[in-house]
Amino acid sequence: LVEGALSGALRSYQALPSFIYPAVTGSAAERQIIFDALSRLPLKDISAINTIRMVPALGVPSSGGVALGVTRVATGDMQLSRWGNSFRTINGFAAASPQYMHTDSVNPDLLRNTVLHEAGHAHDYQGGFFHMLSPTSGHGPWGKGPFVTDYARTNAHEDFAESHAHYFESTKELQKVPGLEHSVTLRDADPAKFKAMRDSEQPTFMERLVDRQAFRETGRLIGDWTSGAPLARTGLAVLSAWSVMNLLSGGAGELANNLGKDEMQAVHGGLTLAAGVGLAFAFANPLLGPAALAALGARRGMEVADQSEDARAHTRSAATGAAVGGALGGLVGGVAGPLGGTCLGYAIGGPVGGAVGFLAGSLIGFRGGSTLGAEAGLALGRH
Ligand SMILES: [Zn+2]
Repeated sequence: LVEGALSGALRSYQALPSFIYPAVTGSAAERQIIFDALSRLPLKDISAINTIRMVPALGVPSSGGVALGVTRVATGDMQLSRWGNSFRTINGFAAASPQYMHTDSVNPDLLRNTVLHEAGHAHDYQGGFFHMLSPTSGHGPWGKGPFVTDYARTNAHEDFAESHAHYFESTKELQKVPGLEHSVTLRDADPAKFKAMRDSEQPTFMERLVDRQAFRETGRLIGDWTSGAPLARTGLAVLSAWSVMNLLSGGAGELANNLGKDEMQAVHGGLTLAAGVGLAFAFANPLLGPAALAALGARRGMEVADQSEDARAHTRSAATGAAVGGALGGLVGGVAGPLGGTCLGYAIGGPVGGAVGFLAGSLIGFRGGSTLGAEAGLALGRH
């Protein structure tokens, strides 16, 4: 029962847009700058990042190879250099050739710009493991001029990230960032890239459903809870990708082995494969995640019928009824459980209530919904 509840919660987590904030580690002042930067982003961009860590330095300062930040897109891990983000511009912003001074605390304007740049890399590969082969910057105007900065000329990925930072800042803010003294916003620099960025930031209806205060505040609290165990976030991302690959290979194998032999087993394999495809490509279409929950609910329905003690449950019409009921129950429970649980809990007890409601709704929703739906469908199909 526990295993069923946990795997059901994992399926909902994979199928629905996430609203969990990254685990952020740094000083109180650094965290405030980071959260201010994140507050500008659509929730889907925030939840694409798993961890944000302030580290003393990235690269070797004396060798000149100094990075301000680095993002491992496969695991959603962002690191920000305290050393690199501690420069300030001297002799005036408008000077022809400004000079930079290293200070002993981070520059809020520079750190904010770095976070928005790095969040651009996460947004580029949004959707996790299965989106890696086809990043957003792989098509469209990226990698071609005009460029917002010299660094954007490096390649299409850096062009996308630099443009992302420019998209979320005003000209006045940009010009306070060391090195960007003569910058203008993305809209002014290149209307075509501005439009492409705006299109890529457009939320799907599922993402719009969760981008509201109840989910943002709850997601930030859950993110804070995971700060003590940042590896748990990476572990969840890896487990998630691994379990989807299991559905794909297991389903394909079961389908191929039973085609033309055992029809029910073949259908079972087909549903497993369909669910795997839906979860793998959920980033590409908002309907694929819920469709995967329906496929898994139908599979659960077939299992409920199969395990029933009642001989009448083993007829074709009863099994079909159980599959249809399981699909509907899994879809409704898997979506409404976690999302409704969060809203209800938040209304009662703020972010803590939202987190409790989310966890409870995730554990009960898909498993409970698909089982209840299957039982109902089975009862109808038996008559
Ligand atoms: Zn970059």
